[in-house]
Amino acid sequence: MTAFKPVVALVGRPNVGKSTLFNRLTKSRDAIVADLPGLTRDRHYGNARLGKREFIVIDTGGFEPDASSGIYREMAKQTRQAVAEADVVIFVVDARAGLSAQDHDIAAYLRRLAKPCLLVANKAEGMREGAQLAEFYELGLGEVIPVSAAHGQGVRSMIETALDRLEWPAAPAEDAQTPDAEVIRLAVAGRPNVGKSTLINAWLGEERLVAFDLPGTTRDAIRVPFEREGRRFELIDTAGLRRKGKVFQAVEKFSVVKTLQAIESAHVVLLLLDATQGVTDQDAHIAGYILDSGRSVVLAVNKWDAVDDYQREQVQRSIEARLAFLKFAPLHVISARKRQGIQALWKSIARAYASAMVKMPTPVLTRLLHEAVAFQAPRKSGMFRPKLRYAHQGGQNPPVIVIHGNSLEHVGDAYRRFLEARFRKAFDLVGTPLRIEFKTQD
Ligand code: GDP
Ligand code: GDP
Repeated sequence: MTAFKPVVALVGRPNVGKSTLFNRLTKSRDAIVADLPGLTRDRHYGNARLGKREFIVIDTGGFEPDASSGIYREMAKQTRQAVAEADVVIFVVDARAGLSAQDHDIAAYLRRLAKPCLLVANKAEGMREGAQLAEFYELGLGEVIPVSAAHGQGVRSMIETALDRLEWPAAPAEDAQTPDAEVIRLAVAGRPNVGKSTLINAWLGEERLVAFDLPGTTRDAIRVPFEREGRRFELIDTAGLRRKGKVFQAVEKFSVVKTLQAIESAHVVLLLLDATQGVTDQDAHIAGYILDSGRSVVLAVNKWDAVDDYQREQVQRSIEARLAFLKFAPLHVISARKRQGIQALWKSIARAYASAMVKMPTPVLTRLLHEAVAFQAPRKSGMFRPKLRYAHQGGQNPPVIVIHGNSLEHVGDAYRRFLEARFRKAFDLVGTPLRIEFKTQD
């Protein structure tokens, strides 16, 4: 199974080089997304990878625990929240400027927390470790690790040390017996109050759905395994759901990290919208993240019972306008409260899963490619006419089709979409993104 990605928070007073470090950590991966503007003002989230280990980095604006002016207090609040979300904290100080009163305050705060914490002295290029860094030991946080974010020195071993310090969440015991592929992992995502808990409880209350007892939960994440019509599912919590007696309730505030982690570890994401609100900025950001993650998506507009015809039309328009990039996702309208339309979701979820996991044999792909070209060849671009020769599958979840040929860099976007549409139709792909890559041989 996909392990939950650990979360690393960068904290420190302004100007010590946190953003520089953040950029260095996140830019190594080709497809960086997860900068989620709108969701948070002062925190940036980024995906990073070191060898095979992937993690999420949070960059914070700054930390002034005792500042009384509004903006600084807000910054401190943001930082505390980032620290709360983190598995390991990297506390950055400035090796050139030396210790400051603020550093002491931050250290005092971090020492109280029972969280792995790494003390890192940035801007240490060209410095000899011993003497200049000695003063930082006063902070009582143990070893001082010199790095230079700007020059990339020491950053790799710093991250290795940080990741080694955390306990990696154990996979649920359940997985040991069950081959991964048989369980469809589903994340129900959406803003607070769209009705996630109501939907999940409505599902769990259904007779046709057999919920198992909660497995040993990993940290504070909840995974509910259940079976429905012979298929095994696992529900991944995004809402901070807690069991209260027989029902689940969202007891936490919206957590970006939980949402990101749940999306990443799911096969299919059910994105819930609220019919009474239309598509908000936050909805669009979450949708954007799901798209970047490559996961399958099913869209459901909840609270359909609470809106009139005029509002229904408005909602549909706002989906077309703002979520156009999720056109491949099936769209449902439901009322979780009245339990309307919620059964039909399962079919779409299972279909989206099957689509994400589709196997496309090379001969079939190549035949489809040749048929598409015979129907309509790509346009000539200057002196070049792209020649599409054969295709094979380059990945699953999301499916990737790799097309080989010559001058493929001249294939236009319109033609790519034409090909995508044909492949989708041929393999009946619904709910999953489909990626097409071109490989030119010259
Ligand atoms: P933040 O406010 O903590 O996010 O700090 P920034 O990343 O914006 O960096 C503050 C300043 O320190 C910028 O002028 C950076 O160019 C500089 N800086 C960052 N890392 C290094 C470094 O490793 N060495 C040196 N000499 N300067 C650095
Ligand atoms: P969550 O924060 O996404 O888990 O949202 P909740 O499930 O707690 O629901 C938020 C509010 O919306 C509650 O007051 C629910 O009763 C209400 N709600 C949920 N589903 C529906 C629905 O289908 N129709 C209506 N009218 N209200 C709903």
